[in-house]
Amino acid sequence: MNAIGVDIGGTKIAAAVVTPEGEILSEVRYPTQAVPQNRLIETIAKAITEVKDGFDVGGVCVAVPGLILASENKVIFAPNLHEIENIRLDEEIGRRTNLMVKVENDANAAAWGEFRFGAGKGLEHMIFITLGTGVGGGIITHGILLRGAQGAGGELGHVTIDPTGPRCGCGNFGCLEALASGTAIQRRARELANERPSSALGQLAIERQILGEDVTRLAREGDEVSASVLKETGRWLGIGLAGFVNTFNPEVIAIGGGASRAGELILEDARREVQLRARSPSRDLVEIKEATLGPESGVLGAAALASG
Ligand SMILES: [Zn+2]
Repeated sequence: MNAIGVDIGGTKIAAAVVTPEGEILSEVRYPTQAVPQNRLIETIAKAITEVKDGFDVGGVCVAVPGLILASENKVIFAPNLHEIENIRLDEEIGRRTNLMVKVENDANAAAWGEFRFGAGKGLEHMIFITLGTGVGGGIITHGILLRGAQGAGGELGHVTIDPTGPRCGCGNFGCLEALASGTAIQRRARELANERPSSALGQLAIERQILGEDVTRLAREGDEVSASVLKETGRWLGIGLAGFVNTFNPEVIAIGGGASRAGELILEDARREVQLRARSPSRDLVEIKEATLGPESGVLGAAALASG
């Protein structure tokens, strides 16, 4: 049966009606910034009602960027989304839409989307990493999404990679997120631009703030300083992935999120670190590649979790 996947992001709230085969039949989007804090639940419910119009739907799953207690359908902590913290979202949204509602972490939902319909289709064991403003993760082993005792598991972005590394948004030092996120790319690009003002990166930094996509573009155009920013990101990512390879022996590690558009500029060094650090035979099997669904992985995975 069709289901609705909702993906709450920093920039947009997206809701989609999705078939069991992963085809999007209808989709609505609202910019998150346009929604006042105290209207968030109303807006989510409105998006669900609007997208459902004319379709038979079995249930809804709402993917939220934050710490989730999946067993109680509660969000414990979601930066900038405090209105939806510590309430029964299944009840609040359920009574406004007359649908069965579940809650899931956004990276877990995206991981499930890639597993069912994207880079992990047909496999049993997959790790998903999203490199965005932060780093999210999802683990699927024996075809099951690992959530742990409280549904809070799979936080691969907050595994410590370098105890003396930079401060992470979570308060810890040297998390994978602090070293391999889009934010980390921007920080490293700023530092190197200051050290090498005559490079293309250095020149751009004099004109304006450097974005992650600038680093990728300049690296593709041959700027070695920009390329080195991405190579270092790839190295830290690979150090994290080597641990996941040893722990979970996945068939595929799929890398998604905005920064994954740098593709081989990051992945080549990540693969090298995995080969250096992970154990055989796990390191020989694993394929590290770009995720295939792009930003739709969230709504697709959420919809698949709603009905599963
Ligand atoms: Zn952290």
